[in-house]
Amino acid sequence: MRKQIAAANWKMNLTMEQGIELVENILSENIQLKDDQEVIFAIPFPYLLAVKDPIKTSRNYFIAAQNCYFQKSGAYTGEVSAEMLSSVGANYVIIGHSERREYFNENHQMLSAKINLCLENNLKPIFCCGEPLSIREANEQNSFVENQLKESLFHLSAEHLKGFVIAYEPIWAIGTGKTASSAQAQEMHAHIRNVMANKYNSEVADSISILYGGSVKANNAAEIFGEKDVDGGLVGGAALNAAEFITIIKSLK
Ligand code: PEP
Repeated sequence: MRKQIAAANWKMNLTMEQGIELVENILSENIQLKDDQEVIFAIPFPYLLAVKDPIKTSRNYFIAAQNCYFQKSGAYTGEVSAEMLSSVGANYVIIGHSERREYFNENHQMLSAKINLCLENNLKPIFCCGEPLSIREANEQNSFVENQLKESLFHLSAEHLKGFVIAYEPIWAIGTGKTASSAQAQEMHAHIRNVMANKYNSEVADSISILYGGSVKANNAAEIFGEKDVDGGLVGGAALNAAEFITIIKSLK
């Protein structure tokens, strides 16, 4: 069974105190996750250790970094390596969020290098893909996303991709309040699974958790997550509110 995941992406929000309070409020709901369900907090680097502590006794709760550098180590002032993240106990790393692609000019080569470094350091990448509005309007989203997968993932072995996590995040839906319809999400998720089945095999494709991201809220999560190929969500704004995120977690299949 592939994993069903509710992942919170805090982006550059919250002080450490606010972040810990948020996590504690969510944990106080005592949600008993099923074996195949996970909750991930993708938090700012300085809070990784602090948030690791309150979640350590809660089964299937994990922490993620929101990025790592594409070089192994060296004179890159201000950057954080995959090895460093692994050494502080991070479990996952978001790779290729559209905000990083856009504002920090991250290209396919950098993203595939980051993924390799994550895997070498026992970190699980959450690989983000998704099209801008102009591509959706031209109805070219399928080939656009396929190319993102090809450029950053296709060098990996089938073994590496078993149980991998991909987040489909249409850029026009991120932080805009516009959500893809559940039918649009299902269509793209099925396409992504199909692309992976064609390149690898159906066993690999069926093991990949494909999360939807883009204005997921408490009031739309159940419908979107209910789609056959949607295995949960990567959630920005709504994950900053305990009550919203609790409902989102409870909406997992
Ligand atoms: C995101 O940050 O990945 C995201 C999907 O944000 P939001 O839920 O706010 O659209």
